[in-house]
Amino acid sequence: MARYIDAVCRLCRRQGEKLFLKGTKCTTEKCPASRRAYPPGQHGQGGKRRGKLSNYGLQLKEKQKVKRIYGVLEKQFRRYFKIASKSKGVTGKVLLQLLERRLDNVIFRLGLGLSRAQARQLVRHNLITVNARRVNIPSYLVIGGDLIQVKAKEKALHKIKDILEQSKERSVPSWLEFNASGLSGKVLRLPEKDDIQQPIQEQLIVELYSK
Ligand code: SF4
Repeated sequence: MARYIDAVCRLCRRQGEKLFLKGTKCTTEKCPASRRAYPPGQHGQGGKRRGKLSNYGLQLKEKQKVKRIYGVLEKQFRRYFKIASKSKGVTGKVLLQLLERRLDNVIFRLGLGLSRAQARQLVRHNLITVNARRVNIPSYLVIGGDLIQVKAKEKALHKIKDILEQSKERSVPSWLEFNASGLSGKVLRLPEKDDIQQPIQEQLIVELYSK
């Protein structure tokens, strides 16, 4: 699947806020979004200033932000919206739930990846099982009761333990349970809006797609 591979920090600078796409570097003073708080590119600093956005501009910006946070491209994002809008629940809430239930996100939230991109790699490299079956699809959607485990050989295991050590300050959300000694996690329930780390105005996205 196609994926955005430009330097991820440019995405934060274009967004005008920190999206925490790079793991531990994001909380240091080296973060380019803090050091250079203007859009990237030759017209960034001296060019047009970020003016007041129209309502449509705000909706578009919020959608871009969520896509960038979860590393999802437009086609798949639209598919999530379609599923959410057809569901019985509140569209915005279900949309966020779908994104949060992605296996790459779950691996990240368990602390097994420093970023969602790194977590996605672990899934792609066949290092993760769900209910004792190998799953290498980052967009796999977990459900309540699922048991997620790392199944890796020594070299990869060493790397994952190193990641865990670096991410130990991060708390695991209450909809997941993590067992560090077994390198496994359990989905206790479906995620709620309050379980989502970054502030998201999902209503803006619903308005955008409902036009
Ligand atoms: Fe964004 Fe992290 Fe890069 Fe800062 S360091 S610009 S938060 S990805």
